[in-house]
Amino acid sequence: MSRPYDCIVIGAGSFGASAGMHLARAGARVLLLDMFHPPHKRGSHHGDTRIFRTAYTMGSAYVRLAERARAGWLRLEEDARRCFGLTSDAANRMASTDEQPERCKLFLPTGVISVGEAYSNALDKKEASCAANGVPYERWDEREAQRRLPALCVPTQAQVLYEPEGGVLFSERIIEANLRLAEAYGAEWKPNHPVQRIAAVGNAVEVWSGNERFAASKVLVTTGAWLPRLLPSLCLPVRAERRTVAWFEDTSGSYAAERFPAFIVHQSADSEYYGLPSVCGSGIKAGHHQLGQTWDPDEEVAPFGSCSGEERLLSEFAAQHFPEAGRCIRGAACMYEMTPSEQFIIDRHPGEPAIWFAGGGSGHGFKFASAIGDTVSRWMLHGKREPELEAFSLVCARLNT
Ligand SMILES: Cc1cc2nc3c(=O)[nH]c(=O)nc-3n(C[C@H](O)[C@H](O)[C@H](O)COP(=O)(O)OP(=O)(O)OC[C@H]3O[C@@H](n4cnc5c(N)ncnc54)[C@H](O)[C@@H]3O)c2cc1C
Repeated sequence: MSRPYDCIVIGAGSFGASAGMHLARAGARVLLLDMFHPPHKRGSHHGDTRIFRTAYTMGSAYVRLAERARAGWLRLEEDARRCFGLTSDAANRMASTDEQPERCKLFLPTGVISVGEAYSNALDKKEASCAANGVPYERWDEREAQRRLPALCVPTQAQVLYEPEGGVLFSERIIEANLRLAEAYGAEWKPNHPVQRIAAVGNAVEVWSGNERFAASKVLVTTGAWLPRLLPSLCLPVRAERRTVAWFEDTSGSYAAERFPAFIVHQSADSEYYGLPSVCGSGIKAGHHQLGQTWDPDEEVAPFGSCSGEERLLSEFAAQHFPEAGRCIRGAACMYEMTPSEQFIIDRHPGEPAIWFAGGGSGHGFKFASAIGDTVSRWMLHGKREPELEAFSLVCARLNT
């Protein structure tokens, strides 16, 4: 067994790569382990992009965390630029994916719109949250929405809530940047290291991967859809669900990120589509938040199109709202790591104080990853939970089940 680390992070995806980078940046001796080689297509982070927004109706804890995350994304971009010698010219341009990931933009402010029936309360709740928490927003009626975004087909009597500070996060690029930075700050990074078991032994925690054994003073488990597996005694209420997204041609350029925002379309209380503008000709991306299948995370996710009707559903949505969009160019299938209430679970193990865990992103967690990595790493290093994290405790998660 190697010399004990200060901290081992198990699962170097969205949350883990960020936490590992923050821990290493703070000077801790860190080991990052993942059973695959993130970014990869077996977890919850692929498909290039994620929406960033602050208008949350799940409580002000989410708004505060999102605000902190926004600052975190800008800092990450700045650190990557400084560390890897990116010129500001290159940083301000959206580079194609064949360039070095850490040399590209990580957060692209495009604004985010929420579209909903004027008489539904989805937009009213978002507006109330923005007003209560000081989040900038505008509310447009159907005519104003048509004037501002002529390529969007706004349903009759629908309204729009516009968040100018929202935007697009490049999820896979961000994970690569976090891992590269973590290594630059001195962390050890071991991909293709599945962890089978962790156990507290005296003052340390031992971590087994195949026939290798590692030890640390503190361990963070950020294993996404697999979160309950390494902590079976906690019976964490996280379930994997398959979801699909599809990209549609933007032949006219009307849906390019320079002129079109990310979007959420509320059809009813339990039916919501979301999507992102076309980035460097990627096509406009769309998915459905609720529709999918319960999945065993150990099984490779069935590819896009393998469940009947899924391409048709997204094509019909695109045709209805984005009349200038063309055919479906490609699709992808990914896993949500759902909790029953869609609330995150971030806590210290109640029986093993050297073990922390963070997960249950429930299809909306990526935007917070910079803040989750930051706050959890401070908790691990300084022993004090910051108030932002209280709402995500295991006790709260159980009450919400
Ligand atoms: C289709 C889709 C669209 C989404 N859209 C948005 C959006 O627009 N905005 C937003 O904010 N969020 C969005 N999300 C949610 C967000 O992407 C997830 O909440 C987030 O990626 C979860 O991060 P994670 O670190 O928990 O999981 P992951 O990023 O999946 O990382 C978990 C890692 O743990 C590793 N691992 C698991 N078990 C082990 C083990 N035993 N040993 C070693 N390693 C292990 C895995 O290999 C993986 O790399 C979306 C999710 C999906 C699927």
